[in-house]
Amino acid sequence: MKLLDGRIVKKDILDGLKVELSMVKKKLCFVVIQIGSVSDIYINSKRKLALDLDYDLILVKLDSDVNDIDVISVIDKYNNDDNVDGIMIELPIPSRLNYDVIRNSINPNKDIDGVTDINIGKVVTNNGGICSCTAKAVIDILKYYDIDVSGKNVVIIGRSNLVGKPLYNMLVNEDATVTVCHSKTKNLSFYTKNADIIVVCVGISNFLTGDMVKDDSIVVDVGTNVIEGKLCGDVDFSSVKDKVSYITPVPYGVGQVTTSVLGENIYKCYVNREI
Ligand code: NAP
Repeated sequence: MKLLDGRIVKKDILDGLKVELSMVKKKLCFVVIQIGSVSDIYINSKRKLALDLDYDLILVKLDSDVNDIDVISVIDKYNNDDNVDGIMIELPIPSRLNYDVIRNSINPNKDIDGVTDINIGKVVTNNGGICSCTAKAVIDILKYYDIDVSGKNVVIIGRSNLVGKPLYNMLVNEDATVTVCHSKTKNLSFYTKNADIIVVCVGISNFLTGDMVKDDSIVVDVGTNVIEGKLCGDVDFSSVKDKVSYITPVPYGVGQVTTSVLGENIYKCYVNREI
């Protein structure tokens, strides 16, 4: 078994990005909107990214009782601020808010998390849209380790708009044969045991176990669960690791790369608005 180490992939992405950024005269700036209480893990990773890339980070904290109009007016303010290169909403947000309307009020040219329908559509058609940071992180890890997905049977467990669905489209665009499983899938093991590559994005610790995977397959663990104060993924690492050829650890796997893709997306949004 070989570990797919997200820290190495992250460094590779950030090193390349820093070369591009050295030619940019302006200090790039992104806005993170936090509604109610959101895990400090996510906010701190953005703070570190801003420090590392010398980006300005504007953190907007809104009370959990805000309404859709309040949130959209904050987004509008930064949509119209030429100094701001990117805007994102930290998830989750309170369920009474209309997330579909809120996410689509972000200027697609500042949509650094790839959540607007315009960017999602461009990702589907492989037409240069800003993509989901997590989905792109999975692709980047596989590419860095020279794992060619073309013609491979890939099973994604999880169909969220943030991870599973964009990843499905990106893998199909890379010529993989992709099956998406979810909570209504019957006999999940049938799919996972036939998979060359399994991506788990469910949000349940120890969900994928050794008896569900075939020998020498590749497992990518997107899950981030905090159990008794410790970060763990969706994969039962101890039972899976000796069967597979490659596996991402948690921590130091996908999560590491996700934030560096955000850094790239901020730069891409800046470039798209410049040309
Ligand atoms: P989500 O919106 O809660 O989606 C979870 C998905 O898992 C849903 O599609 C759900 O199916 C499916 N699911 C739940 N129980 C299942 C079961 N018993 N069998 C099969 N499928 C099942 O979560 P998400 O936003 O995609 O995130 C998933 C995980 O990734 C979480 O742990 C999250 O913290 C983590 N995450 C990590 C990163 C990173 O950078 N590492 C970034 C984002 C998210 P239904 O659609 O049928 O309900």
